[in-house]
Amino acid sequence: MFMEKPPVIQVEELSREYQMGESIVQALRGVSFQVQKGDFVALMGPSGSGKSTLMHLLGCLDTPSAGTYRLNGQDVSRLSKRQMALVRNQQIGFVFQTFNLLPRLNAMANVKMPLLYRGRNSRVDEQAREALSWVGIANRAQHRPSELSGGQRQRVAIARALVTNPAIILADEPTGNLDSRTGAEIMQLLSQLNQKPIARNGETPQPRTIILVTHDPQVAQYAHRILHMQDGEITND
Ligand code: ADP
Repeated sequence: MFMEKPPVIQVEELSREYQMGESIVQALRGVSFQVQKGDFVALMGPSGSGKSTLMHLLGCLDTPSAGTYRLNGQDVSRLSKRQMALVRNQQIGFVFQTFNLLPRLNAMANVKMPLLYRGRNSRVDEQAREALSWVGIANRAQHRPSELSGGQRQRVAIARALVTNPAIILADEPTGNLDSRTGAEIMQLLSQLNQKPIARNGETPQPRTIILVTHDPQVAQYAHRILHMQDGEITND
């Protein structure tokens, strides 16, 4: 029998409230949406609309007050901290506005980090080199972040996000600290990674699913779909 694959992200009635002293802040008010494998989604909305709250939930950095979140068919909305860390390492790649590279480590060592966290693997060096070449900076493998430009640092961070072959990539304002030309180059790179599946030794090429937060309409244009948020709700899905 033909079984249709579940969407990579399935969010149903997801809510998150924060206790602020006596009062309760409704940061997310029961949002529902799906993301298919290989999709490229931009999340937009004014400050305070709930984008970070939603990204933290999608990134398994936080648990919802109510509702469910299925990642690759697995309900990940009620996991322990330890289980969430495992899901993050195995299924999610993060790209941040401020790159978040470890300053004492060179590019290669930064990219290797998530693989080392997984335990023994004789192919760590090979996989890290491969990821650096996907993002076009294999020749900077031995440089520390301070010896790289902003755009090169973000490429290293993208390589680190890709190296584990995650189900989804979550990018929070990835061009926010870059000039517009470099920002456009980074967006072209993310687009390429999204559209052109990368084959790995013996594995089927995987289209990359990307969820990106941005304030910049030009950046959002690279996405296939834009989710607009306001007051803890998605207003256009
Ligand atoms: P955005 O990322 O779109 O700026 P956030 O998700 O950060 O929005 O915030 C949504 C709402 O939740 C805001 O009203 C914000 O003040 C509130 N909020 C976010 N994080 C916390 C927190 N840790 N404690 C209390 N309120 C919070």
